[in-house]
Amino acid sequence: MDDCIFCQIVAGDIPSRTVYEDDDVLAFLDANPLAPGHTLVIPKDHHESLNDLPADLGSAVFAAMHELTPEVEAAVDAPASTVAFNNGEEAGQEVPHVHAHIVPRFADDGGRPIHALVS
Ligand code: 5GP
Repeated sequence: MDDCIFCQIVAGDIPSRTVYEDDDVLAFLDANPLAPGHTLVIPKDHHESLNDLPADLGSAVFAAMHELTPEVEAAVDAPASTVAFNNGEEAGQEVPHVHAHIVPRFADDGGRPIHALVS
């Protein structure tokens, strides 16, 4: 979609810091990170939310998340991470192209729950 920020990132029209890429999935650093290493994982094809995402693409996104989460944690020496989707505008989804957040968590970051951290 022409006016979708994340589709423009996939197309290379908006610069981003790529963390991972395969035929179906792109992962890149969040421009406004909630913590060092905050990574977004998206399907390359445009789908607004998880509800619209074909199951095979969902599997590809999950496989990338599964591989990347420990790597992102290790890259910033984080002992844990919050992995979450804001699914729909009322849930805090600002970019209408489905994406998972991998947010590294640290012992001294207050342990805030997902809804307070990713919104
Ligand atoms: P949401 O609130 O939709 O779940 O999260 C959208 C995320 O996309 C936010 O964390 C925001 O910082 C990130 N974001 C928005 N625009 C850009 C951009 O142009 N580049 C990158 N790398 N991240 C973006």
